[in-house]
Amino acid sequence: MPGRRLVPATLSFADGIPYSESFGDVYHSADGGLAQARHVYIGGNRLPQRWAHRPRFVILETGFGLGLNFLATWHAWRADPSRPEQLHYIAIEKHPFSAADLHTIHGLWPELAEVAHALRACWPPLVPGFHRLLLDEGRVVLTLVFGDIADCLPEIHAAADAFYLDGFAPSKNPDMWAPAILTRLNRLAAPDATLATYSIASAVRAALTQAGFVCERVPGFGRKPEMLAARFAPRWPQPARAEPVSRRALVIGAGIAGSAACERLAARGWQVTLIERHAAPAQEASGNLAGIVMPLLSRDDNLASRLARAAYLFTLHLWGRLGGAGRAFDGAACGVLQLAADARQALLQQATLADSGFPEDYARWADPSWVAGHTGNVASHGGWFFPHGGWVTPASLCDALLAACDTRLNTRFGQTVTSLQRIGYDWVACNESGAAIAQAPVVVIASGAGASLLPQTQALPLQAIRGQVTHLPPATMTAPSIVICGEGYVTPVVQGICPVGASYDFDVDKSLRASSHAENLQRLTQLLPQAHIPDEHAVQAAGRVGFRSVAPDRLPLIGALPDPSAAIAGTRLRDVPRLPGLYGLLGYASRGLIWAPFAAELLVASLEGEPLPIEQSLLDAVDPARFALKAYRRDSKELNT
Ligand code: SAM
Repeated sequence: MPGRRLVPATLSFADGIPYSESFGDVYHSADGGLAQARHVYIGGNRLPQRWAHRPRFVILETGFGLGLNFLATWHAWRADPSRPEQLHYIAIEKHPFSAADLHTIHGLWPELAEVAHALRACWPPLVPGFHRLLLDEGRVVLTLVFGDIADCLPEIHAAADAFYLDGFAPSKNPDMWAPAILTRLNRLAAPDATLATYSIASAVRAALTQAGFVCERVPGFGRKPEMLAARFAPRWPQPARAEPVSRRALVIGAGIAGSAACERLAARGWQVTLIERHAAPAQEASGNLAGIVMPLLSRDDNLASRLARAAYLFTLHLWGRLGGAGRAFDGAACGVLQLAADARQALLQQATLADSGFPEDYARWADPSWVAGHTGNVASHGGWFFPHGGWVTPASLCDALLAACDTRLNTRFGQTVTSLQRIGYDWVACNESGAAIAQAPVVVIASGAGASLLPQTQALPLQAIRGQVTHLPPATMTAPSIVICGEGYVTPVVQGICPVGASYDFDVDKSLRASSHAENLQRLTQLLPQAHIPDEHAVQAAGRVGFRSVAPDRLPLIGALPDPSAAIAGTRLRDVPRLPGLYGLLGYASRGLIWAPFAAELLVASLEGEPLPIEQSLLDAVDPARFALKAYRRDSKELNT
């Protein structure tokens, strides 16, 4: 996994060229950075010719640095009438620059100003892991992987058509060129991939040759007479390119999970039929007035925190794009304060932040006086503050996501899918009376707690957990200007109401209960002790009941669904037989707003055979078959003891 603490690059110049003090080397040739990018990397991979008329072209770069190679490539892609429909660019970087430093550096190449500005506009906070950025309406997809190459390379899931090796001179930075790194590139090479680098070091050539690349010395750039151009042509057979998929899907469930799936599918050109038992989207758990958008932090930066980080940041990015495309939705990035419950937890929260090295634009410590000044709560122990977090009305977001699908979406509202039958290559979704509603080769089940209605998902260990939200009229109290959470949460005023949530109950009662209101108000006194809500309010309060769908490990289920009737043939996830064409986006618990866009992107990228937006080691954690495999392993162990 990518290391936890990221050390940003420090900007220096040597003779006007960006220079790294830590590596003792310049970021590009003294003979010109842009011309070097064009000669060595673009030309060395025979671009743009090699990408002409392809549906997709994937480039993998070691050492993103200033982003110059990327910007030059993106610029060339824009200018090329024969460009591939989609350009994927994955780049690993151990010491990323801040957006402010990039702004200074990018000023050196006015020709690239437009693309450079667009890149910096969505430049992520400097935190480790994968950052998926959709540029040029998603036709250019940049996946930045922040961390050391040794940790990051094994985590990438992609088939690259071209490699750019650019990690400072091998003599200055041997780690980047270690044989163990270079010989791994074959795992990431698409059939007929090419590779280019300025280095002709014999150790580099030897490692690449061992990895299956045929290396050739070709004329170099500037004062370097030679560089390396290579072609992936291993002696062992290469797998054939995957067949293009038939881009038709049914999505079951028009909550936030299903709406996000529709948007991501439609963005890739899929024709989608959305089936929903209610007459409109977002009527179940996604019908709450406000959902909270925040990441998850843990002292050991555990798997759930890493997943939530990637999801949270992708979600914020996607929303920026939706907003930019005029698809507004209700919400505010007002910041989220997560209060420590007591002094001990406050110490733990501070230590977690100190260990993480997270920049302040991602998470910062809010001390008790900050909390008092921003919320009026003078009795707090402080807490974490996420400045870009906030709240969103999920229904308005569903509307915006579905509107973005345009003509690629058909809706079947007021129809309940009670069975799915496989006929030929299609799944046919049928209603209670057995009549077909719609059919397609791919089905995405995104029906939250409703997944228990379908035989194919009934066996998944998803529990419906009741959550009642209390709606306080703003006159009752002074509503906060930021989201505050701890045991419960309170948001700023939404549609004239201050929502306070939420109970956590293990029953299926859909009616409002005074006891749940009382619990919510009790929690509110911990978040805002000055609120003074009269007890009798609990009896009269308005509110809403929804049901979260929660897996035993509280992580979402994203991907191909296990076949409950087929025998498991081994002890790895890949040994669990799947239902062909049937996928789940389920178990979002209380975090639907951050899981939904990210999970949809992950699912659709894997359906399309694109580079994935997440570490390989996190994929298993969200695999819907993990529970079936666990049960199988437990049963086999019992049999053998
Ligand atoms: N390709 C870049 C561009 O177009 O602007 C320039 C890359 S610069 C020559 C080399 C980059 O490799 C630096 O940004 C450096 O931080 C990064 N790097 C060095 N060692 C690394 C490692 N072990 N893992 C990941 N990145 C590393």
